[in-house]
Amino acid sequence: MQQPGSNHGTVYLVGAGPGDPGLITVRGIDCLRRADLVLRDYLVNPAILAVVSPSAEIVCLRQHRVAGALRQEEINSRMIEAARRGKNVVRLKGGDPDVFGRSGDEIEALVAAGIPYETVPGITAGLAASAYAGIPLTHSSHASAVALVTGQERHDKTGPGIDYGALAGFPGTLVFYMGVTSSAQWSEALVEAGKPSDTPVAIVRRCSWPDQQTIRCTLGTVAAEIADRRITPPAVILVGNVVPNVAEMSWFESRPLFGTRLLVTRPREQAGELRQRLADLGAWVDVQPAIRIGDPPDWRPVDAALRQLNSYDWLVFSSANGVRFFLDRLLDRHGDLRRLGAVRLAAIGPGTAAALGRYHLRADLVPGRYRAEELARELAEEASSSRFLLLRASRGREVLAEQLAAAGGRVDQIVVYSSTDVETPDPQIAEALAAGRIDWVTVTSSAIAESLVRLFGDDLRRARLASISPVTSEALRGLGYEPKVEAVVYTMDGLVDALLNSAQARGVSPTAGPSDKSTKV
Ligand code: SAH
Repeated sequence: MQQPGSNHGTVYLVGAGPGDPGLITVRGIDCLRRADLVLRDYLVNPAILAVVSPSAEIVCLRQHRVAGALRQEEINSRMIEAARRGKNVVRLKGGDPDVFGRSGDEIEALVAAGIPYETVPGITAGLAASAYAGIPLTHSSHASAVALVTGQERHDKTGPGIDYGALAGFPGTLVFYMGVTSSAQWSEALVEAGKPSDTPVAIVRRCSWPDQQTIRCTLGTVAAEIADRRITPPAVILVGNVVPNVAEMSWFESRPLFGTRLLVTRPREQAGELRQRLADLGAWVDVQPAIRIGDPPDWRPVDAALRQLNSYDWLVFSSANGVRFFLDRLLDRHGDLRRLGAVRLAAIGPGTAAALGRYHLRADLVPGRYRAEELARELAEEASSSRFLLLRASRGREVLAEQLAAAGGRVDQIVVYSSTDVETPDPQIAEALAAGRIDWVTVTSSAIAESLVRLFGDDLRRARLASISPVTSEALRGLGYEPKVEAVVYTMDGLVDALLNSAQARGVSPTAGPSDKSTKV
């Protein structure tokens, strides 16, 4: 064993959980943050890797037995070599490392090489299936034990195989892992050994992922069910009287947008909030930014305006980005917000006002309807005696400046951030859209509408479009695309409400998932 104080790195065998990135432990995240090398199983949700340092190397290990996959000895030597060079290694495994995770082989190799290691447990698929399909594994009257069983015995295994007689008489729930392709063998063996063929069974596929499927059947029908429905791994199969007779949807599958796949197209740094809200409602959310936000082409006009802020009566913000770029520049150049003095602040909507709030500033004016025309109308009253500074994107509508000037205002406009189109889409997302696997595309500005049409062309017609406002809808129509829903309140929350209403109106229930015709538990 390596002595403490050696300059070897440590190998952490970390359980990533079954899919939902929220199901990894705090300790697991901590190890990932500090890792220099991450060797991850292909089943692990890549979203978990967001915390890994950009300088770390990430290797995705392909499915065992797939051509080109690293052999176990090669995985072991990668870990050992890196640790000998002082690197911290995370061996990231689906579920729990010690449940059918081959951690035994790896630990043996690490111990033999004198490499310090630590195991960080994870939520194993069987436990997650129980929680996410709403089937408690134990029950005070009919399941006082749980057995985790493999459906794939190693062919080279010496010693006794699975004792189906013992399993048939087991006083509780059986949870089969890796049992999809072998379902005929193990289910028949159990029935032959005396387990009643009408024992309730639930197949839980991709548990905790947004396309989770739960199929209820019996021990006698499970193999046929898997064949007929062409169920592919990964799935765990729960066998026992804990599986309810009444088909009742779990909390997870009955969320309002479960079974719906949506595309969020906002700039990357702003996509998170909408993505999370939709995901919490059960949707499967992909993010494909249509535009990219960055520094303005020239800071000089911004800096000039910052030097003479007290000559303006109003600063008018038409986006949260405008707030962020302008105020960050102000803080960077002038130190603190007193530079704003008595100038009044107008925000086009609640999102922009909230962005001001993050700088402890309160908007003096937010119009009743969140659009430029309305903001101009509400400012018009005092336009003739006021000087306005409009903080805007490198492209955008002119209506605000025009209307304020027409009302007699003195108007200056400066570009405080640039908005440019993203040129190429993520190929996987483009393919999903072309194949009709994306149900909705959210369109949250006119610039996004234009960029989306350039990015995806006619494939956009394979999905329904959800527009944030009449202005955005008009932009879509101008491009030849009719939105399916439009938000009543022109905010991200308003858009989510419009999607929810549409889901309810269409009676979208979790059983209407994209590829799922199953009977749900
Ligand atoms: N260490 C893992 C198991 C690895 S063996 C764990 O603790 O979960 C691979 C098997 O795990 C699959 O064949 C399947 O039976 C199960 N599995 C993994 N992820 C799953 C998921 N999201 N839903 C259902 N079963 C899953």
